[in-house]
Amino acid sequence: MTLRYAARMGKTPRSFIREILKVTESPEVISFAGGLPSPALIKVEGIAEAARSVFETGGAAALQYATTEGYLPLREFIADRYRRRLGLDVGPDEILITNGSQQALDLIGKVFLDAGDAVAIERPGYLGAIQAFSLYEPRFCPVPLEEDGPDCAALERTLGEQDVRLFYGVPNSQNPSGITWSREKREDVASLLDGTGTVFVEDDAYGELRFSGRSLPPVKKYLPDSTVLTGSFSKIAAPGLRMGWICANPEVLDRLVVAKQASDLHSNTLSQRILAQYLTHNDIDAHVREICRVYGRHCTLMSSLIDDLFPDGVSRTEPDGGMFLWVTLPLGFSSMALFERALAEHVAILPGLPFYVDGGGENTVRLNFSNADEDGITEGMHRLARALEA
Ligand code: PMP
Repeated sequence: MTLRYAARMGKTPRSFIREILKVTESPEVISFAGGLPSPALIKVEGIAEAARSVFETGGAAALQYATTEGYLPLREFIADRYRRRLGLDVGPDEILITNGSQQALDLIGKVFLDAGDAVAIERPGYLGAIQAFSLYEPRFCPVPLEEDGPDCAALERTLGEQDVRLFYGVPNSQNPSGITWSREKREDVASLLDGTGTVFVEDDAYGELRFSGRSLPPVKKYLPDSTVLTGSFSKIAAPGLRMGWICANPEVLDRLVVAKQASDLHSNTLSQRILAQYLTHNDIDAHVREICRVYGRHCTLMSSLIDDLFPDGVSRTEPDGGMFLWVTLPLGFSSMALFERALAEHVAILPGLPFYVDGGGENTVRLNFSNADEDGITEGMHRLARALEA
C-alpha cells in the first residue's frame, strides 16, 4: 500500500542537525555540531528542589489542565525581566508560554503564512526557522547578513519588490553566525519595516548570553506593534523543560492563542510551575553571569585555536555572545568533505549548507563552543586541524 502524504512535507527539509546528532552520539566523538548547553551549567539540584516544592505545595493543580496563555507567575517573571533588563514596557497579557521557542516559530507560521507568501530571512539563517516556516509553504527571500546585521539595501529592495509577510531575524548572537546586529542596523530595519505591514519576527534565543558590554535594545522597542518577539529558557535554565515564549501585542497574541489551543491546548503545566519556582527562588542573574563567563572563555579558546592551528585563508566571526562560531574555509574547500574527514578523527562539525535557503555556503562551517569543556575544545580543535590539513 502506498501512503499519500501532504505536498507540504516534500517542501520541508529534514533537520540536518538531528540527523547529525545521531551519528555523533558515541562517547568518543567530541561534538561541535549541535547546540547543546554545557551539562555542567544545568542546575540539576536547584531544579530538583523546585520540583519537590511544586509537588508538596501545588497539589493536583500542578498536574491539571491549565490556560493556553500559560502560568501567570511565569509570564509575570518574563514581563518583569523585559522591563528590568531591556526597559521594554510589556505586561504578562502580552506573553504566551510555548513548548520551547521552536513552537513559537511554528505558531507564527500558522497565524501569518499562506502558501506562496514571501518570508524574508537572514542569509545564512536559522535552520530551525527555515524548517518551521517551510511547513506553511512560503517563498523564502534571503537577505545577506553582514558583519553588523542584515544588508539593509537588500532588505529595502526585497520589501519594494515583494509583498513580504514576515521578516525573521536573530539580532543577538545569531544562529548560525554568532553575529550581533549593531544599534544602527536595528534602527534601520525598524524604519524600513515601519508602516509596511511586514511583521518582524525577532528571535531572541541568545539575548541573555552576552559576554561583555550592555545589551542592545531589541527591535521590538523601535517597532512595538508589528514585532513578534520570541524567547527561550533553554539556554539559561534547561532545554529539556521545553519552555519558551512569544511576546506580542494582545491582538496578535489572541490569534496565536487560538493556534496554540488547536495544537496542544497549553504547555506542560508541571514544567511551567517547576521553572517558575526555580527562577523565583534562585539567583538567576548570578547563574546567567556564570554561563556568560564560561561560554566567553570557551569562545576565546576556540577562536585562538582556529587562528593558531587552521591553514591560511580560513576566516571566522568574532562572537560576543551565544553558542556558535562561524568559519569560512578557503574557496574550493568543501565543508561536507571536512565533516566526513573530521568524523574519522572523532570530531563532529556542522556544515553550513542547510542554513542557506537558496543554495551556497559550501565552504562554511558552524562550530558550537558551549557543550564541550575546555579540554574537549582543545583536543577537538587539534583533531579538526588535522582533518583540515588532510
Ligand atoms: N531560535 C534559535 C535561533 C535557536 O538557535 C533555537 C535553538 N537551537 C531555537 C530558536 C529553539 O530553541 P528552544 O525551542 O529550545 O527554545
